[in-house]
Amino acid sequence: MPQPFPSGASPLLVFDFDGVLVDGMAEYWWAARSAALRLAPGLDLPTVAPPAFARLRPLIHQGWEMVLMAAELARPDLQLARLLGDYGSAVAEALQRWGWDATLLQECLEQVRAEAIAADLPAWLGLHRFYPGVVERLRGLAHEGVDWAVLTTKGGVFAGQILAAAGLEPWALYGHEHGSKPAVLRQLLKRRDPVWFVEDRRPTLEVVRADPELAPVRCFLVSWGYLGPDDQRDLPAGIGWLEPARFAAPLADWI
Ligand SMILES: [Mg+2]
Repeated sequence: MPQPFPSGASPLLVFDFDGVLVDGMAEYWWAARSAALRLAPGLDLPTVAPPAFARLRPLIHQGWEMVLMAAELARPDLQLARLLGDYGSAVAEALQRWGWDATLLQECLEQVRAEAIAADLPAWLGLHRFYPGVVERLRGLAHEGVDWAVLTTKGGVFAGQILAAAGLEPWALYGHEHGSKPAVLRQLLKRRDPVWFVEDRRPTLEVVRADPELAPVRCFLVSWGYLGPDDQRDLPAGIGWLEPARFAAPLADWI
């Protein structure tokens, strides 16, 4: 069998979790809605995710923002176009309007999740699904002797539960509690070379690309997951486009 990387070690593959490995849209809405109702019990929110929530998802970076967006979607005078068009400013204004901060929202979200896991783990797991081919590809990496890690803005324990239920064991798993994604990647580069980073959020990859210390990290944007309408357009040279067929192919074909 030919060696895919005759000139050196095989890469450490670092995967984002939500939108790359797992589609958890049903769970995001359920958890965001539950947390928002805990903080503002009078909110009128549908039990099924409204389409606007899916449109906001590509803009959402950290879990607490989902809770804030759920509350915003309950406002009858919400201007969705403005929210989509200037998300950063709208988030700051919404925090002020509700009198909440990121820590409060994140803690409430994680409490809702922890309680759901304690009460009925299979039901909570059932709100997630791995994207087609992902479980097989990750198992294949283990057989090829390629290490893979998970780097997520989710709490690590929650991603760990979902992976464990599928019988998947990453080389390492980093949640938001381990620091920002660039910070974790900088640490990983001290231990492993090469490092490949696979994301569905283009702004995150652009931050990595703009960091000179992270120049050795090879970046990929996946074609599935929570992409904005223009995310694929004019990708810079340092960010590869990863479609399902290429994802399923040997690593040497990714580059
Ligand atoms: Mg993602």
